[in-house]
Amino acid sequence: MPELPEVEVVRASLARDLIGKKIKTVMVTNGRVVRRHKTAKEFRAAAEGHSIKSAQRLGKNLIFGLDNGTHLVIHLGMSGQLLRAKGPKDPKPKHTHVVFTFTQGGELRYVDPRTFGELYVSTPPPEGTEVEISKFARLSIGGDGLTLRHQIPELAHLGIDPFEDQIGWDRFAAVLRSRTTTLKVVLTDQDIIAGLGNIYADETLFAAALRYDRPAESLSTIEIRRLHRAITEILTDAIKHGGSTLADEQFVDPDGKPGTYQQFHQVYGREGLPCYQCRLPISRVTVRGRSTFFCEKCQS
Ligand SMILES: [Zn+2]
Repeated sequence: MPELPEVEVVRASLARDLIGKKIKTVMVTNGRVVRRHKTAKEFRAAAEGHSIKSAQRLGKNLIFGLDNGTHLVIHLGMSGQLLRAKGPKDPKPKHTHVVFTFTQGGELRYVDPRTFGELYVSTPPPEGTEVEISKFARLSIGGDGLTLRHQIPELAHLGIDPFEDQIGWDRFAAVLRSRTTTLKVVLTDQDIIAGLGNIYADETLFAAALRYDRPAESLSTIEIRRLHRAITEILTDAIKHGGSTLADEQFVDPDGKPGTYQQFHQVYGREGLPCYQCRLPISRVTVRGRSTFFCEKCQS
């Protein structure tokens, strides 16, 4: 499943050529991906004829600001891809569910074999409306995250985005100390930290030398600072390498190019292989139906 780095790679790529373009037509061939709307027609009408003013991200959500103040929100789900094409003659991949065309030319296609992803146009609530923002996100002291949550109520529940919400290690400490669940659960709960999933939670915990099953509230100050730093370092590095493309979940950028960060994974997907630090084999356990990879010796 695409996580924060992969979504950010898609955002940065699309920002380069979509901003300023006007959506001419929207074709929906699978209504499931626009399920928040009553009909596919309603979704099409909300997007057609509008220019794209901005390309932002919050957690795993892509957010395109439209010229009438609404936002086109795209969540790639488990297997969603956004692919650019020159025109209708470019061969359409299987599982293409939505096609955007632009008055300036070119197409953007939404492809999603498992159809867990979604697209919708969100209208900002009327001025003065109280939006219930996540109590964790409210700890933020800067960045664009809070504004986005006010404008897009569907995303108001999202927890701290490591880049869009500014939160120092001291406020991060308050979040961890309020949780009795394990670190892996806290890091992958989108309502607490938005953007991390299975891969980057495991890589972050290895970088911070912390075990997945430590209760979040049990961390010392030094450990909290280490974890806080590891989150931004790992995500920044992953973005720099174009995200992770695994054999079973084919993440590609809008030009169809895979990421290379999987080559730098320290633990994820490396069960039984020697730890790069201590040479002991990497362990794998199943937590809540999902695999967790870690080193028995390097993480405590
Ligand atoms: Zn090790």
